[in-house]
Amino acid sequence: MALVELRNVGLKYHTLEGETTALENVNLRVEEEEFVSIVGQSGCGKSTLLSLISGLLKPTTGEVLIGGEPVQGPSPKVGYMLQQDYLYEWRTILDNALLGLEIRRMKTPERVQEVKQMLQDYGLGGFESYYPNQLSGGMRQRVALIRTLAVQPNVLLLDEPFSALDYQNRLAVGEEVVRILRERRKTVIMVTHDISEAISMANRVIVLTPRPGTIKSEHRIRMCDEGLTPLQTREHPEFRRYFTAIWKELNVNA
Ligand code: ADP
Repeated sequence: MALVELRNVGLKYHTLEGETTALENVNLRVEEEEFVSIVGQSGCGKSTLLSLISGLLKPTTGEVLIGGEPVQGPSPKVGYMLQQDYLYEWRTILDNALLGLEIRRMKTPERVQEVKQMLQDYGLGGFESYYPNQLSGGMRQRVALIRTLAVQPNVLLLDEPFSALDYQNRLAVGEEVVRILRERRKTVIMVTHDISEAISMANRVIVLTPRPGTIKSEHRIRMCDEGLTPLQTREHPEFRRYFTAIWKELNVNA
């Protein structure tokens, strides 16, 4: 059974000016421990797709299932990480990392201990009592990831998670995030407009058409299946071939 399944999903937004069909006929199955990247032009419905999986939006047609159950609304099974890290500047790093647990009323001494251990394991051990503005962009993004992982979601949704970082940092943080998510055997769905990022991190890249977004094609990325890291994948001779194929699909009028 797929962990996440979208069956014939469509979504229309209703506004004062009328109606916008953001997504149409989306069928997608994501298996446990798979990392799936979704690419498409700006405005094709990528963020909308994540909002549907997270339960923040209800589909106009079709259904979204997680673990075989229809999604009824936001749940701790699904963690959502956005482009901006949304750390609170007046809270310490530890208190920011504990925020998800507090909001969901899941803060127990054992879970606090786990968060402290993750901070330790992921290079933030000495920074618990620091404030976000004392940390680099990459470190902040790691705190946001730990906060998301603290509630132990099965599925992680990443919305352009590295676009606020400069190129060098994006590579380093991408490498680190993939290592952490593989270690913890998470299932991940990431949207990005960056083709290289999509290929370097994922088992599968899904290409969406321009609005109304629907699945145009999918590419299985052999390097990730074989356990290569994002940097190793970027250096692999086949990387260019995937890049060119996906780039062409995104630049042809659908
Ligand atoms: P992407 O993430 O691929 O850039 P979005 O999912 O944000 O695309 O948006 C898809 C389409 O739906 C866009 O045309 C956008 O203008 C429209 N849209 C997004 N959110 C809303 C909303 N709350 N109300 C009306 N239209 C929206």
